[in-house]
Amino acid sequence: MNNTILRYVGLTDPNFKFIVNSDGEYNRYEHRGRDHHKALITHATLESYIMRCPDCGFLEHVTKYGYTDDIEIYLPTTNGYDNRLIVKKQRFHCDNCNTKFNAKSHDLLDNSKFSRPLVNQIIAMSQDDISQKSIARALRVSTSSVHRVINSDQTYYYDFQRQLPSVLCFDEVRTSAHNMSFVYADGEAHQLIEILPDRLSKNIKEHFLGYSLQNR
Ligand SMILES: [Zn+2]
Repeated sequence: MNNTILRYVGLTDPNFKFIVNSDGEYNRYEHRGRDHHKALITHATLESYIMRCPDCGFLEHVTKYGYTDDIEIYLPTTNGYDNRLIVKKQRFHCDNCNTKFNAKSHDLLDNSKFSRPLVNQIIAMSQDDISQKSIARALRVSTSSVHRVINSDQTYYYDFQRQLPSVLCFDEVRTSAHNMSFVYADGEAHQLIEILPDRLSKNIKEHFLGYSLQNR
């Protein structure tokens, strides 16, 4: 049952233990936001084995110390609903240095209300040339948070292995209110190659040095 729910809500960490009521139900509708839209809420705890103290590194002085209060996390959208997880995380206490800390999960991000699978959904959609407004509407989040996720994404890498075209077109484009970016394209295939964060010649030069001399 737990694994089935895990797949339904789009998470992967089996340390989430979902709370099922006596009728076998694990989610329910509640209302959220200023527009009072229907959100689908699932409750769980995040369990964990004893973890090493993040402060002093000891394992043998760490003991379980109850659970956190409810933390509300935005889940990926699998059914068009605003899906949310209310989770209580296992807490720990280190008797050596008196630090308290919480269980961690690869499905959650530090200091973010968005689950990692939701962030991955946002990034995947943004790579498909869909506007931030449309992504926000489809995933039931605000446009500003889509903007924030895309701009803080550290998983984007330039592909310096691709062969540069023999005809290179380049220009500068306005990418936000005050920012101009350098953009370049394949002049024969009419394919956009990259947009750089700015248009400073120092950074443009540095970018192209990422390609091998032979490639250039
Ligand atoms: Zn400690």
